[in-house]
Amino acid sequence: MPHSSSLERLRDGNRRAITALLAVEGPMSRANLVRGSGLSRTTVSSLVGELIAAGHVVETSDRGRPHKGGSGRPPLLVALVSPGGGVAGVDIGHRHVRVAVADRRGVVLTEQSEAVDVDEDGVAALDRAARMVRQGLQAVGLPASDLAAAGMCVPAPLDRRSARVRTGILPGWREISPAEELHRRLGVPVFADNDANLGALAELGHGAARGASDVVYVKVASGLGAGIVLGGRLHRGASGIAGELGHVQVGEDGQVCRCGNRGCLETLVSAPRLLALLQPAYDEELSVERVLELEQSGDAGVRRVLSDGGRAVGRALADLCNSLNPEVVVVGGSLGASASLHDGIRSSVERYAQPDTAAVLRIVPGELGDRAEVVGAVSLAIARISV
Ligand SMILES: [Zn+2]
Repeated sequence: MPHSSSLERLRDGNRRAITALLAVEGPMSRANLVRGSGLSRTTVSSLVGELIAAGHVVETSDRGRPHKGGSGRPPLLVALVSPGGGVAGVDIGHRHVRVAVADRRGVVLTEQSEAVDVDEDGVAALDRAARMVRQGLQAVGLPASDLAAAGMCVPAPLDRRSARVRTGILPGWREISPAEELHRRLGVPVFADNDANLGALAELGHGAARGASDVVYVKVASGLGAGIVLGGRLHRGASGIAGELGHVQVGEDGQVCRCGNRGCLETLVSAPRLLALLQPAYDEELSVERVLELEQSGDAGVRRVLSDGGRAVGRALADLCNSLNPEVVVVGGSLGASASLHDGIRSSVERYAQPDTAAVLRIVPGELGDRAEVVGAVSLAIARISV
C-alpha cells in the first residue's frame, strides 16, 4: 500500500508539473511538454491522455502563430481548460501554512508549504497565507483579478454562526474570524471549514473515495474527528459539528476530555495519546514518523498499541456505519497510513457492524496524505462559487 500510494503521489506531482507548464506557457505540443517538464515521452503522453479524459486539458491545433520550421502540418497542441480564472486553497495547521492555486476544475497548478508557528499569532499566519496566495498566482501567470474565491482550513473548531474560532484552544486566534480576515487581505470570498470536513471533500473529489457518494472520512492525528459525506454532499449538521467521532463516550469513568465530558474516544486514541502510551518503553524520543517506522520494522509494542487504538476507533465507527450505511470509510491524518491501526479498525467494524452494513463497506487509507486539507479547501471554494 505505501508503495502504490507513493507512486500515485509521484504521478500526481508529474500531472501538476504538466498543468503548471501549460498554465504558464499556454498551449504546447507534446514534444515541448517533454522538453519543458524533463519527463519521458511515454510519461507525458500517458499523463496528457489522462488529463484529456478527465476534461482538464483539450487538444487544439490553433495556437495563433505559425508553426516553426514552416513546412508540414503543425503538431496538435495541448491546452489547459481553465474556465473563469482560479481558486486558492489555504491550509493553516498548527505548525505550517500550505497554499495551493488551482483552476476552476480543481486541478492544482502550484502548491507551497512553509513552516510557521501558527498558534501564537493568527494575524501573522494570515498575512503569510495571503502573501503565499499572491506568489502562487504569480507563479502560474494568473492575474490577482482572476482569483474567484478561496477555501481555508483552520486548525480549530469554528462556530458556524459567528465563524470565529472557539475560544480557549488557540490563544493567538482569540476574537479573530479567520475567513473574514483572509477575505480582507485577498478581496475575494473566503470559505472556512475544519480539517476533517475538508479531508472528506478532498478524498471524495481527488482521492480514495472518488466516485462514491456516501463516505465517512476519519482523521487520526493530533485529535480524532470525522467528516461525513451523504448523497455526495458534506453533512455538517444543525450547528456545523457533525462527525465528532472523537467525543463518542467509550468509558463512563475515563479521563476528562477537552470537551468537558469524560471517557471520550479521543482521550484513548489520538497521536499524542498513543505516543504517550508508548514512550515509557523506549529510550529514544518518539514522534509519529518514528512510530510508523518502528511499525514497519515489526516492533511488537508499536503494532499492539496501534492495533488496539484501531479497534477502539472501529468499535465507535461500527455504530456510525450502522446508522449511515456508507460505501467507503477513508482513514486519514498523520496515523492514517498505519497498517496496524487500519487492521484494528477493520476487525472491529466487521465484528460490531451489521453483516449487511459491513459487506458493502470498503475501509481504505487516504490517498492525499498531508495535502488533504489544502485540496479540500480548493474543493470547498469551487463548491461554494458553483452553487
Ligand atoms: Zn470529548
